[in-house]
Amino acid sequence: MKALCWNGINELNVERVPDPSILNPGDAIVRVTMSSVCGSDLHLLDGYVPTMKEGDIIGHEFMGEVVEIGPGVKKLKKGDRVVVGSVLGCGGCEFCQTDQWSLCDNSNTNPEILEKAYGHAGAGIFGYSHAFGGYAGSHAEYIRVPYADHGSFKVPEGVKDEAAVFTSDAFPTGFMAADMCGIERGDTVVVWGAGGVGQMAMQSAYLLGAERVIAIDRFDDRLEKARVHAKAEVLNYEKVDVLEALKEMTGGRGPDRCIDAVGMEAHTTGVEQVYDRAKQAVRMQTGRPAVLRQAIMACRKGGTVSIVGVYGGLIDKFPMGAAMNKALTFKMGQMYAQKYIPQLLDRVAAGEVDPSYMLTHKWSLDQGPEGYKMFKKKTDNCMRVVFTP
Ligand code: NAD
Ligand code: ZN
Repeated sequence: MKALCWNGINELNVERVPDPSILNPGDAIVRVTMSSVCGSDLHLLDGYVPTMKEGDIIGHEFMGEVVEIGPGVKKLKKGDRVVVGSVLGCGGCEFCQTDQWSLCDNSNTNPEILEKAYGHAGAGIFGYSHAFGGYAGSHAEYIRVPYADHGSFKVPEGVKDEAAVFTSDAFPTGFMAADMCGIERGDTVVVWGAGGVGQMAMQSAYLLGAERVIAIDRFDDRLEKARVHAKAEVLNYEKVDVLEALKEMTGGRGPDRCIDAVGMEAHTTGVEQVYDRAKQAVRMQTGRPAVLRQAIMACRKGGTVSIVGVYGGLIDKFPMGAAMNKALTFKMGQMYAQKYIPQLLDRVAAGEVDPSYMLTHKWSLDQGPEGYKMFKKKTDNCMRVVFTP
């Protein structure tokens, strides 16, 4: 089959690779109908996630049709139209049982690599390096889906692919970001980053009771989408002093809840990348957590900082004094796909949110390398490029 493979920093190629097959009783094979780019893939392109290997298939936000199931799969059958969460969970461990799926004890086949790199071990993620289990990604014609009964969800009739695909990753991540804030009626929520994850965090903040949402980015087309579709007030951080503006907009008090939907973006953090071709491994350097610092400094006393933007290694000069003296609450994590996807599919089916406006380009898999170049530079008003293998 055809697949989009990672071959080094900023190097992607469409290659012929073997078709996947069932390896464990709980596996399903899904024919991918849509697979989206995600900001997390940029960390792979930038070389910030350790342990990518040349030839690894990337991609993790996807949907498709079940074409084969293992003997242990109970809830799915051939022909089902499903969305698959990007983070894998076994369903049986202590963490899956308590709905903290991205902390799963069993779905990462190489937990020792993650442990060595980050000092902890978490769940496997499709197409997201060997530290996260070395699972083949979704930018391919077919994909093996382990723990298929837990991670795949039938798409309700009437929900179109263009909306459903984002319930795989961007929407549950944005929703979790807002959920972690502990929003109370009347709250002002600020979201740094108006990408797919940020847009969904803004919409989710309203669903969870926010009165006011403020979006921060530097791309006017993304801010415009935030304004029109997510009903956010917007700030362009290249045109205003963010801390001053937020102070003024909240009467000097500061926003109640602050969401980091950016993470270690190269433009912002200047994380230095070192890729060792011989070892096929990436060494992380430290970066400046510009967004996180702003969020901590801006947040009102006793407020919440919620982080879904991805961080890999160490970050410099984290303003611990401000955080401590303002009694801030921090919540963060890779998202709990299996916890949120069912209710988000229901919300989309009910018309509460239509994430399809984020899909700006629907391209073939052959255009993968070009699609990522555009997505990385955010040219052509690109928000989400979706490949249709
Ligand atoms: P994206 O690249 O489409 O959007 C990121 C946006 O952040 C861009 O529009 C960029 O201009 C903006 N930005 C950069 N620096 C900024 C700054 N200083 N202030 C305000 N905005 C700034 O990416 P995305 O798909 O929306 O993903 C966003 C983040 O969420 C990434 O770090 C990604 O890895 C992470 N993510 C996390 C999870 C999870 O499970 N926690 C899941 C998916 C994505
Ligand atoms: Zn588990």
